[in-house]
Amino acid sequence: MRSSRIILAQLPTPIEPLEKISALLGGPRILIKRDDQTGLALGGNKTRKLEFLLADAIGKHADVLITAGAPQSNHCRQTAAAAAKAGLRCVIVLGGSPPDVPNGNLLLDRMLGAEIEWTDRDHRNTRMEEIAAQMRTEGHTPYVIPVGGSNGVGAQGYVLAAQEAFGQLAQLGEHVATMVVASSSGGTQAGLALGAKMAGYDGRILGISIDKGERGPDPYEVELAAIANATAEVMGSPVRMTADEFSVEYGYLGGGYGIVGSLERGALSAMAKEEGIILDPVYSGRAFGALMDMIGKGKIVGGGEGEKSEKRNGVLFWHTGGGPSCFAYAKELA
Ligand SMILES: *Cc1c(COP(=O)(O)O)cnc(C)c1O
Repeated sequence: MRSSRIILAQLPTPIEPLEKISALLGGPRILIKRDDQTGLALGGNKTRKLEFLLADAIGKHADVLITAGAPQSNHCRQTAAAAAKAGLRCVIVLGGSPPDVPNGNLLLDRMLGAEIEWTDRDHRNTRMEEIAAQMRTEGHTPYVIPVGGSNGVGAQGYVLAAQEAFGQLAQLGEHVATMVVASSSGGTQAGLALGAKMAGYDGRILGISIDKGERGPDPYEVELAAIANATAEVMGSPVRMTADEFSVEYGYLGGGYGIVGSLERGALSAMAKEEGIILDPVYSGRAFGALMDMIGKGKIVGGGEGEKSEKRNGVLFWHTGGGPSCFAYAKELA
């Protein structure tokens, strides 16, 4: 069971082997799940969440979508596209100040017709609520989507994505021991982990933290469990998860969110030059760089003897998209 859904994505996204990079790293066989190819305005992982969020918004007779993010938010770009397609207004609250020339996702937000509001990063949520309240007084019905679309409604998209991937892997005769995904607002990892638990998957869903350290009082794993449980509730499932069922790697925060370092540059370069695939410098590049590093250090091993066991110990890397932000990082990447 799940709540209603509006089709926005081109599914299933392909799973492909990364033959050359796998050989180069000399570790496990690596497969890639192409969620950068979901199809909506250059694609990415937020499209799967938006299929459920948009359906919920329309069910509530909303006429405006309001969401927030960083200036190069892929989530905001995909939300702007979903709103455009559905004929809704879209207001995007971005943390920071406007650049002289908009590029990357910000340029696309404008092309997609979103109304853009700037505030400082810490005030994005209160700004969204202020705008929503103002709109209600004007007779509108706003629908506020949290940063990253990560709540029980949105994360349903990744429960379905997990089911989709398990079906494809079975058909391909591949059994991966580890799935690796960039993790930030949490809906993607929470949905995948819940989908994996529902399916009885015996492997590991490893989130690479993009921007959160191991905080004491409010650990990220607690947030992930809360999103997963809200999702299970929306879906009418009795499955529940606890914080200790999530695995998150915190060792690759680099210079902080959106700061491009040699890890990200190396991952983007390897994936582009070996496989013809474009990663992004903020999320998928950091996560794939982490995977390359962990394989290099023997933290993720594969192989064993023979092709069969190699397949059993494979890795599935979720490419969550983000390529459009490369253009806004031209200085750092060139
Ligand atoms: C938002 C985003 C992520 C992180 O997904 P969450 O559900 O927010 O954890 C990863 N990669 C890209 C490209 C993204 O835009």
